[in-house]
Amino acid sequence: MRSGGTTKKSAVSDQTSHTEGGKTEQLNPDQRMAFRRAVLEWFDEHRRQLPWRSIADPYATWVSEVMLQQTRVETVVDYFRRWMERFPDVEALADADIEEVLELWSGLGYYRRARYLHRAAKTVVGELGGRLPERVEKLKELPGIGPYTAGAVASIAFGKRAPLVDGNVERVIARLFAIEGDPKRAAAREAIWSAAERLVDEERPGDFNQGMMELGSEVCTASNPGCVSCPVRRWCRGLASGDPHRYPESSRGPNQEPMRARSCVVYAGDKNNGKLLLRRRPEEGLLGGLWEIPSVEQQGKSWPDVETLIERIGSAIPDEKVVDVDGVDAVVATVEHVFSHRRLKTRVHELGVGEQVCDQPVSDRWRWVEVDDVDSVASAALMDKVVAAWLPHR
Ligand code: SF4
Repeated sequence: MRSGGTTKKSAVSDQTSHTEGGKTEQLNPDQRMAFRRAVLEWFDEHRRQLPWRSIADPYATWVSEVMLQQTRVETVVDYFRRWMERFPDVEALADADIEEVLELWSGLGYYRRARYLHRAAKTVVGELGGRLPERVEKLKELPGIGPYTAGAVASIAFGKRAPLVDGNVERVIARLFAIEGDPKRAAAREAIWSAAERLVDEERPGDFNQGMMELGSEVCTASNPGCVSCPVRRWCRGLASGDPHRYPESSRGPNQEPMRARSCVVYAGDKNNGKLLLRRRPEEGLLGGLWEIPSVEQQGKSWPDVETLIERIGSAIPDEKVVDVDGVDAVVATVEHVFSHRRLKTRVHELGVGEQVCDQPVSDRWRWVEVDDVDSVASAALMDKVVAAWLPHR
């Protein structure tokens, strides 16, 4: 991607520079060499021991980088270990049932990532002989692999001189070069990627990129940049300006649309020891394919009708089996959950049915689960919240 040198994005000039908001910043070749050395020396000394860093396998790099998107390192560590035990290579993942993949992902959020991993694994095994491509452009052709993941896999796993920009690198570069503008917008985003592309080390691109990410997460943090101990402070225009906090310009954040829902905990038999009814959501859309406490939801701030909820449950439970249909009107709890672009409140109801109901299979979209086993099915954090809110009312 750097061979032609004719387009703005692909050019790797001998100068690290860009103009944005009237400012021009430059590192000459010597400065850039010194900058790379400083990042690598700092990384060699401070790198954290993380399980994926001790596995020289592009598949492991890919899985870890996908998990790390939007999820904290500390959370990912255990998920990664479990994943690699169950799906140690791309063939094992490609062979797996999507249901099991989602179960293992359960709790990490952003479930589309797991679906894409699974789909891409099938492509790699079915069409690419089981080998991940090495180059950024080829990697980006796989489902779910964008510029960041492609850059991470190409540089860390294959040693290609490819840049990457995640939230941490974005912040470091915006401060280093005092880049004006909101990185969510094209001008600032391109300026940051362009700088990342020029900076990346030729000999150790993977370590350099990881060093930049680690620098952002450990030193140049969003709220408290540790400029005194920063290995690249001598080149930092943000620091020189006296106000590094102003970079990058903060966007207003995602516009979270309100949603309202009703969920009904349907228990069979004894309220304390019985089973709960779960429904699998449609494959497409919010929380696609995950199991949930039966729910109905709608956009906006008005609540869906209780009748709509009863109707939904009615497709799994024959009327005559319902023990206490009046009880469903009462709201036992209200739960709030924030998705990336939605803020959802759900009112929790309950409904008792006869014990024998759960012996009768309904369809593959419904299942009965012991209360204690609820957290072992592929579900979203929202369902855990609903069950947790209901438990004290047993
Ligand atoms: Fe960030 Fe301060 Fe280092 Fe600049 S000097 S990169 S603002 S920590």
